[in-house]
Amino acid sequence: METIINVDDVSFSYGTQTEQALSHISLSVNKGDFIGIIGPSGAGKSTLAACLSGAVPHHYTGTFFGSVMVDGHDTCEASLTDVSQIVGSVLQDIDTQMVASVVEDEMLFGLENFGVPHDQIEQRVSETLETVGISDLRDREIATLSGGQKQKVAIAAILAMRPHVLVLDEPTAALDPASSTLVFETLREANRALGITIVVVEQKVALLSEYCNRVLVLNHGEIALQGEPHEVFAHTDELRAIGVDCPRVTRIFNSLEADGLVSGTPCLDVDEAERLISGIVDPAHAAIEAQTPTGSPHAPSLRPHAKDAEPVLTFDHVEFAYPNGGAAVHDLNLTLYPGELVGIVGQNGAGKTTLTKLLTGLLKPASGSVRVTG
Ligand code: ADP
Repeated sequence: METIINVDDVSFSYGTQTEQALSHISLSVNKGDFIGIIGPSGAGKSTLAACLSGAVPHHYTGTFFGSVMVDGHDTCEASLTDVSQIVGSVLQDIDTQMVASVVEDEMLFGLENFGVPHDQIEQRVSETLETVGISDLRDREIATLSGGQKQKVAIAAILAMRPHVLVLDEPTAALDPASSTLVFETLREANRALGITIVVVEQKVALLSEYCNRVLVLNHGEIALQGEPHEVFAHTDELRAIGVDCPRVTRIFNSLEADGLVSGTPCLDVDEAERLISGIVDPAHAAIEAQTPTGSPHAPSLRPHAKDAEPVLTFDHVEFAYPNGGAAVHDLNLTLYPGELVGIVGQNGAGKTTLTKLLTGLLKPASGSVRVTG
């Protein structure tokens, strides 16, 4: 793996403050990495992002120890302009970052300032807008865009300058879940299609676990944990003590593991969790699902109690309709075995209550039979 950024024993305190915002941070960022930084408020995440982009020590001055090497350049010695040719950054408050009122002008501003030759500018703008998926917004007034669209414009304006690394500080802070996912899809595209290394400060742990190859947890200016998302989110208790959440599905895994029901690598998404839980409650079904991943989701499952057991309840071709023609039960077939825990779901008027009344004998079927233990 080729290193693009090397942070060596960096400590930093702002201005004349004695308290360190970062303390003895060492970190290597490899080309092609997609790194997520999490941690509680005040942990030093933004300060670390500012160190990577050169804003510390060029824009934010203070006491700086150690070194940050960006593609072979020491950020303390290189100019901020030189560092920003390599590391592009999207700030937390994009409104203060954006200078133009129209999307295209925002893109042109950076390219012209960077001295990109005029004959290359049009291609850069159109290619980047396409990569980010916002070609249709080119002539729009930025003020009229949604939060997610604005965030994409901010990312596109930086990507157009072809940095090797993109550092983002909480790009989804003001966005709803759907827009947040779109921003991360954009980052994934930049990472995969353009080969850009991504470092993102982010609170939404489920997104980080899905998109990053490495997660870094900061606490009190120090690296508390780092590794692949699976490794980091296995430390539920440690993360909780720091004040950082795990993805919900990982919390479920960790509590099942604490009860001795599962072991191994924590799950990070809903599909993994579904397979895991099916494996516990219904091992035969899980085995079949694992063999036939494209099987119909509506196929009846094998039940753990079904083999050799006598049913406790059988609905056999049950028909029922209310006299006023209201909700009806039509050709209902259902067999329940001892020990089963069954949920009945359905829209209003689907017949759930009617089913339970037929089950308890409050209603009699018009045809067919309802049998309880024979
Ligand atoms: P996070 O991004 O994890 O919330 P920050 O990097 O913003 O953490 O802050 C780390 C520490 O540095 C905090 O104690 C914060 O008060 C301090 N700090 C951050 N920015 C400044 C600044 N511009 N001037 C002075 N202190 C700052």
